[in-house]
Amino acid sequence: MDLHTIESIETPRTRADLTGLSATDGLLSGGTWLMSEPQMHLRRLIDLRGLDWPDLTVTEQGLEIAATCTIERLIAAEYPPEWRATPVFSAAARALVASFKIWKNASVGGNICLGFPAGAMISMTSALDAVLLVWKADGSDQRLSVPEFVVAQNQTALEPGDVLRSIMIPASALTQPTTLRKMAMSPLGRSGVVVIGRREPAGALISVTAATRVPFVISTKSMEPDEVAAQVDSAIPPQAYYSDAHGAADWRRHVTGVLTRDVVVELAGS
Ligand SMILES: Cc1cc2nc3c(=O)[nH]c(=O)nc-3n(C[C@H](O)[C@H](O)[C@H](O)COP(=O)(O)OP(=O)(O)OC[C@H]3O[C@@H](n4cnc5c(N)ncnc54)[C@H](O)[C@@H]3O)c2cc1C
Repeated sequence: MDLHTIESIETPRTRADLTGLSATDGLLSGGTWLMSEPQMHLRRLIDLRGLDWPDLTVTEQGLEIAATCTIERLIAAEYPPEWRATPVFSAAARALVASFKIWKNASVGGNICLGFPAGAMISMTSALDAVLLVWKADGSDQRLSVPEFVVAQNQTALEPGDVLRSIMIPASALTQPTTLRKMAMSPLGRSGVVVIGRREPAGALISVTAATRVPFVISTKSMEPDEVAAQVDSAIPPQAYYSDAHGAADWRRHVTGVLTRDVVVELAGS
């Protein structure tokens, strides 16, 4: 849609060009959400794609994903064969119910910066111990985990002028097998509950998203399905679950337990 309040579009080339951004500047990545509804508070768009960050950088330390990397590019790329966790990129992306226009243009960073409970890239990165690098408006750097970054429903730790630069996923997480379960109210419905499990050397890591307002990550030494489900249930306060058109809070809590058991059973055999 046309954004009638926008007076100019700037294309930064370096970090210095990002100096002085304010709350009336909209950071444009894929633009799929920015262009989907009126943005009455915005006067300028800052097209981050002009910074030309390399989409994906594979190193011994892990995978660095530029915030502007599209979700399509992330799931189409090839990765080292020992990175057994990478199928979760595609599994999480498929939990994002979207038209082909969103699928091709939406960026990993744009998805995370919205802070939606059902943010597909929030689910994926929270399960893989990702570290988010934020370029603060004052010129400093800040590194946050995903649960630290998503502070409330649709709200992140970003302050006006802050830019999410990249997402670093450590090799230690990428080498571990993962599995994802999603439940929605209809076959093509938006995720009501997403549970991702990652096998750790002793036990598993469980991430819960979509069911709760913010992501929850629980590490357990147990691989006994009922025990892990009980640990997850006690780690998430009942009021963290929420009700909307995609599911009631008590349904979300119950299904989180069901999917957690399922994930643990599968991980135990991996
Ligand atoms: C009809 C519809 C249905 C959708 N359903 C789902 C769904 O089920 N699950 C789901 O996960 N998503 C859903 N989405 C959201 C979709 O995933 C987002 O539109 C997309 O992920 C946003 O990515 P983008 O790159 O296009 O971001 P943009 O639209 O460019 O930006 C999104 C927001 O993030 C800010 N931003 C972007 N990049 C940065 C950065 N690097 N640093 C700081 N701030 C930044 C922007 O200023 C803006 O506020 C839906 C969207 C629509 C329109």
